[in-house]
Amino acid sequence: MKTIIEPFRIKSVEPIYFTSKEERKIILEKAFYNPFRIHANDVLIDLLTDSGTSAMSSHQWAGIMQGDESYAGSSSFFRFEEAVKKITGMPLVIPTHQGRAAEKIIFSILGGKGKYFCSNTLFDTTRANIEFSGAEGIDLICKEGRQAGVPAPFKGNIDVAALIKVIKEKGAKNIPMVIITVTNNSGGGQPVSMQNIKAVRKVCTENKIPLFIDACRFAENAYFIKLREKGYAHTPVPEIVNELFSYADGCTMSAKKDAFANIGGFLAMRDLDLATQCRNLLIMTEGFTTYGGLAGRDLEAIAIGLYEVMDEHYLQYRIRSIEYLTNKAIAAGVPVIQPAGGHAVYIDAKAFLPHIPVDQYPGQALVCALYEQGGIRSVEIGSLMFGKYDARKKLIPAAMELVRLAIPRRVYTQSHIDYVAEVMIEVFNKRNELKGLTILEEAPTLRHFTAKLQPISMKGKTIKNFRKKSGLNTLK
Ligand SMILES: *Cc1c(COP(=O)(O)O)cnc(C)c1O
Repeated sequence: MKTIIEPFRIKSVEPIYFTSKEERKIILEKAFYNPFRIHANDVLIDLLTDSGTSAMSSHQWAGIMQGDESYAGSSSFFRFEEAVKKITGMPLVIPTHQGRAAEKIIFSILGGKGKYFCSNTLFDTTRANIEFSGAEGIDLICKEGRQAGVPAPFKGNIDVAALIKVIKEKGAKNIPMVIITVTNNSGGGQPVSMQNIKAVRKVCTENKIPLFIDACRFAENAYFIKLREKGYAHTPVPEIVNELFSYADGCTMSAKKDAFANIGGFLAMRDLDLATQCRNLLIMTEGFTTYGGLAGRDLEAIAIGLYEVMDEHYLQYRIRSIEYLTNKAIAAGVPVIQPAGGHAVYIDAKAFLPHIPVDQYPGQALVCALYEQGGIRSVEIGSLMFGKYDARKKLIPAAMELVRLAIPRRVYTQSHIDYVAEVMIEVFNKRNELKGLTILEEAPTLRHFTAKLQPISMKGKTIKNFRKKSGLNTLK
């Protein structure tokens, strides 16, 4: 059979709320051209993130009812702990309320001024937590990973030669950890090969640097290894996953990704001293060591989801559905990262909107256009998210200007995705009319979440006139 079907049937549905294009224009203005500020009921297809947006299975919902809410020693914790141990092979398991809570704990302990954390690409919260500790994050993505339009099987790999060079320059003792993000979320959801992980392990061992995995999408990465790496075509995914984690000293995980949970995360590791320090911090900021900021029912849902995500019928459907949308984009000439990643389609906004300079945030302009045209919510992964300022307040742009259409797990059907493709292509055909944006207000860290923007043509006085015209003059 040629058609790969959704490997589930639907037991419960949620309505989608429809809006008109005229309504969405006003909504966008009210939200200061930042879709993070839009009410979710004003979104038709929400591709903002695949994080915490999965549809849970009937087994997970049954698990929710069985959650043991005991403060200490909950039986749900032990089921959760067993699942994490089995999958990662790591003996010390610490629950947290999400991935960034795990990051906050580990980098508070290992970070600090004068320290460097090397990675293929640090995710935004990972980098923010590293920098907040006073340390620096260094991204060492391989050459293929920097060429958006050129397909390669493992574009998430670390450049091992560059890693060795940085270790020499900075000194191994100043590098508390190397972090491999699987799949590489900020670099297109591209996978890392087992061979690359092994090579990094070797470098880490030689330099006595711990290797951690940012494991948010471990199952998607493992399935890519099965599909693309020599010698794994007949290896069951759980075995690939075990091998992947066997090279690491620890991991951080957001259970909101490859565990189909709506909330949750964990830290797992092999070193007892480090785990003890983490647990001491955990008790102060998250909760007791057997719940870590989660309810017993969440631990139960995560434990079940961690096994479900390794089902190969699911993974085949998952990877194929991202490829389906990517291929529609490619066929229409829309510039996207190739090949398709594991959880999202990434549009190359610099190539999509060459007339908008990077300091006018072409990615964000495209995000707004997709919303206005079809009510699709996406996210910019470019200079709004990662841009910095130099001493003269001039923008230091990000390496790439991307727009991510993240596909929630088990949520949307093929016709939803066909609609998304239509909207994307419609915007592409009108791309010359799109305008850049300027920032009105921003936070010192992770500014993309809350920033307020306005179209470049409405700078200064004209914005007031615009507001009057659209009846929005009460806006702050
Ligand atoms: C989502 C994510 C995180 C952070 O996890 P949260 O649960 O959102 O705090 C860290 N790293 C990667 C690669 C992610 O995708």
